[in-house]
Amino acid sequence: MEKCIFCQIVVGEIPCEKVYEDAEVFAFLDIVPVNAGHTLVIPKKHYENIFEVPDELFGHLGVVAKKVAHAIKDGVGADGVNVAMNNGKHAGQVVFHAHIHVMPRYEGDGYQLWKGREYKEHERGEVGEKIRKQIR
Ligand code: AMP
Ligand code: ZN
Repeated sequence: MEKCIFCQIVVGEIPCEKVYEDAEVFAFLDIVPVNAGHTLVIPKKHYENIFEVPDELFGHLGVVAKKVAHAIKDGVGADGVNVAMNNGKHAGQVVFHAHIHVMPRYEGDGYQLWKGREYKEHERGEVGEKIRKQIR
């Protein structure tokens, strides 16, 4: 099977600006950054998204994302960072190799977060129950 774009980046077949690498995890600059320094933290092994990544590896990805967040804050002087992961086409995932975005943020940079909506009557409790029942 043909390698996906991020698998090709991991093995050096496609160039990238690497900022971190260890045995399991790789991090490099996004080519279309929200702000300069926007980094993608990925498992070296191909997993499609959060639903496929093994628990232990996901924990390690989280630790590396935190390391990168500190490095972004100190390295490019960000006021804060957003850490986000798009999982599934309808959640905005475009590259189907799991990745965590770590995005530098600045006062007044204009980047828009999602807009919330209010729960209908009883909805919050019902939805909470549906999710509680599925926690494994
Ligand atoms: P997502 O919408 O979460 O799947 O995000 C995919 C991200 O990958 C986007 O922010 C793209 O800008 C980024 N991207 C796609 N191709 C490359 C590449 N060759 N090098 C670095 N980043 C890339
Ligand atoms: Zn891949």
